[in-house]
Amino acid sequence: MRLPLHNRRMTDAADTFFPALHPAETGLKWLHSFAALGPDFYTELAPQPLPSPYWVGRNRALARELGLEDNWLESADTLAALTGSQPLPGACPLASVYAGHQFGVWAGQLGDGRAILLGDIATPHGPQEIQLKGAGSTPYSRMGDGRAVLRSSIREFLCSEAMHGLGIATTRALCVSGSDAPVRRETLETAAVVTRTAPSFVRFGHFEHFSYRNQHTQLKTLADYVIDRFYPACRDAAQPYAALLQAVTERTAHLMAAWQSVGFCHGVMNTDNMSMLGLTIDYGPFQFLDTFDPGHICNHSDNQGRYAYNRQPNMAYWNLFCLGQALLPLIGEQDAALAALEPYKTLFPAALQTRMRAKLGLPDAQPGDQALIDETFRLLAANRVDYTIFWRRLNRFTSHSGHEPVRDLFFDGESFNAWAAQYSARISGVDAVQRAALMQSSNPKFVLRNHLGEEAIEAAKNKDFSKVDTLLTLLQAPFDEHPAHEALAGFPPDWAASIAISCSS
Ligand code: AMP
Ligand code: MG
Repeated sequence: MRLPLHNRRMTDAADTFFPALHPAETGLKWLHSFAALGPDFYTELAPQPLPSPYWVGRNRALARELGLEDNWLESADTLAALTGSQPLPGACPLASVYAGHQFGVWAGQLGDGRAILLGDIATPHGPQEIQLKGAGSTPYSRMGDGRAVLRSSIREFLCSEAMHGLGIATTRALCVSGSDAPVRRETLETAAVVTRTAPSFVRFGHFEHFSYRNQHTQLKTLADYVIDRFYPACRDAAQPYAALLQAVTERTAHLMAAWQSVGFCHGVMNTDNMSMLGLTIDYGPFQFLDTFDPGHICNHSDNQGRYAYNRQPNMAYWNLFCLGQALLPLIGEQDAALAALEPYKTLFPAALQTRMRAKLGLPDAQPGDQALIDETFRLLAANRVDYTIFWRRLNRFTSHSGHEPVRDLFFDGESFNAWAAQYSARISGVDAVQRAALMQSSNPKFVLRNHLGEEAIEAAKNKDFSKVDTLLTLLQAPFDEHPAHEALAGFPPDWAASIAISCSS
């Protein structure tokens, strides 16, 4: 394996200046799998120091999962290393190059414009990359400062853990570190860094980059890297690269079903924000639906509504075509690429139906279930019902009781009664215990509503990080009751509707 020179310099420097941080003592087992691809794939560079950093949020549960030492997130050295003030021994910091289609238009070369990959480490859950988001400008920065603001960093930190708590594939977040250093966006804000982890941060856009530049050797190197590490079964397929496209198609279909079922809007589903592993990645102007509005656009920069809630599944499919186009030089036959994309059309609706049946407490499929699901969505939209609260209240709905709390959410009581009769009939033959268990693990009590994030952010701006901590705890176990935090499971306040989240972060 090629270890970049730069990395050796960094490690030597660390040994000289920070002997207490010798690699053996940090306990991190670096693998540097991505760095081994070679310099066509990235630029080596160190993170820019964030002045006088402080902890904003720490995910000790994830630290334990990754097998990090107990005090790793307590140490001043870790804080300094994760904010660029001193090297993390053994790390090989780099920014990767990718490209992408943004809002349906080819945007050419992009890349990690403010994220720096430190490398991957061996963990009990396999290799995990560690990336610092907001770590300063890189050769791929786009008219930006390479920084992330506190507001968006807290949102990413909390939401990635919220998604994980919901059982939805996602990148993870280990911590957020803040600083009083000013960062200019629409207003003056302060800088922060999110330390995030994932088996890989490779995006559709990484493939588009090499494909559009006709760099087919690198394209193949990258495809082989992804197959060998994450989709080994594709290696044995008659057409490994078509099999890769199909495997990513399948994961993406499942991811979209998961998003739709919990009312998650991503907001910027550009191909550079689509994970090759089918993970939710790059949390920006995302939102969990409050009232159920199928056409809801969470990103105020999305003027056309390209990434509206109800368009997400189609946009993911569109993005998969971009990936298919990028992989075409390796796949060869256009028909083979199209065939690899085809399963999306059946997989996505089937996966969504399975998830929605679980929310309704229906373990087995019966004819008429899809019609019931469609009617449920129609009624929720017509009555502008709070999405999360509807499903949670439905947990207590039986054929004979628990109707009122649900009916109260609808202004059209007649339509609700008709629906309730239909639903009661459907659940009459379902084992009550099994149904309750299924619903309890499918209908969360807590999601990261915009206003909850805003309240935690406002407190954090005043150096009160307790709300970030509380939300992290709740969102990591969103199906539990947490009776002390009932208020955080309630309806959004009126001001929530006026929160405007844009691409700028
Ligand atoms: P996003 O829409 O956040 O996925 O970002 C799209 C592209 O813009 C990526 O290549 C980012 O790295 C880059 N970018 C986003 N924010 C900044 C920033 N503050 N400074 C430099 N580049 C950025
Ligand atoms: Mg991005």
